[in-house]
Amino acid sequence: MKINNSSIEISQYANGDSLSINVIQYDSLQSGPHIYFQANVHGAELQGNIVIKLLMEYFKEHEFRGKITFVPFANPMSVNAKIGGYTYGRFNPRTGDNWNRNYIDISQSSRYQIQHSIADFVNEHYESETIITDFKQYLDSVFSSVKNNTEYGLSENKIFNVELQHLAADADVIFDLHTGGRAARYLYAAEYEKSKAMELGFPHTLIIPNEFDGAMDEACFMPWVHLQNELMNHDVQFSIPVQAYTVELGSEETISMDAAKEDMLRLLIFLKGSGQHSQQLEELKGQCYSCHLKNYRSYYAPTGGLCEFHLEPAEHFLKHDKLASIHSFNSKSNEWMTNHVVAKNNGIMINIGTSANISQGETLFQVMEHYHSFEV
Ligand SMILES: [Zn+2]
Repeated sequence: MKINNSSIEISQYANGDSLSINVIQYDSLQSGPHIYFQANVHGAELQGNIVIKLLMEYFKEHEFRGKITFVPFANPMSVNAKIGGYTYGRFNPRTGDNWNRNYIDISQSSRYQIQHSIADFVNEHYESETIITDFKQYLDSVFSSVKNNTEYGLSENKIFNVELQHLAADADVIFDLHTGGRAARYLYAAEYEKSKAMELGFPHTLIIPNEFDGAMDEACFMPWVHLQNELMNHDVQFSIPVQAYTVELGSEETISMDAAKEDMLRLLIFLKGSGQHSQQLEELKGQCYSCHLKNYRSYYAPTGGLCEFHLEPAEHFLKHDKLASIHSFNSKSNEWMTNHVVAKNNGIMINIGTSANISQGETLFQVMEHYHSFEV
């Protein structure tokens, strides 16, 4: 096994100092899939780094096939943006842009001055027997040209996002490790990869459409969805060989080594199923739940006040159950009143706000409704 370490300068400050992304690549020197892990794109979402630590240690000791790329602390700008005791890590503090929404959609070729569109690529390669490798090379050249040739430069978020897209462009399976606020363990998987995603045995899976909305997982799988569609115009059936998942590993601002061992085990079981290794693993059994994104519902605060959350992440509830109580002070009457937030449907509590200090319209929590359950 060969290990390559590299460091990519990602943001230079006025005084000349700069921040870098550190990339560690394990090459088994045997053919096999290329697996890509990145963590901590949102600064407060720390648990993925610990999972990467465990995976790096595991694959130093255990044989595997193919390559693995690890990018811990993938966003040095966000993890280092602390205000008081908290990490202000979800948005760029200068622009307000979400760090996980500015990846580029390469099907918008004119917008990014991409000379050679996916349709052009397919016109030249639709009969190629090495179309997967050809397309990965195409992606590599597209991201290089976007980084180097954009006439008026790229914004801070785009520089960073395109760099990560470029790093992941050669991978077959991409894991973008995040956490929720105060949250259960859940996974975003695209419609086309949902049956594969079930093998991950994540307690909760949200099925998202095969569409681009600016996030890393979509940025990684959408070029392949476009490729599939373009090939169909040439009557070529093509099944997408790449999977990309956003994995939410519990709550922000915390790490748990015990939970990380289980997180790693889930990933190892999945990788074994994909032929990446053949190590002996413990079994992991449990009940899992999935729903479509349209049934992943946010509850918003009907009034401002102090919010008492009655459920913990992953708890199930029934229609009409009391999910939260908001205690509000009426500054005209100098009286207190309490509003209860009641469940509209049966559901599972997934992601809960981290502050009891609530303004009207603020997201209180997100829940799964109309879910399916399965066992692993
Ligand atoms: Zn996140």
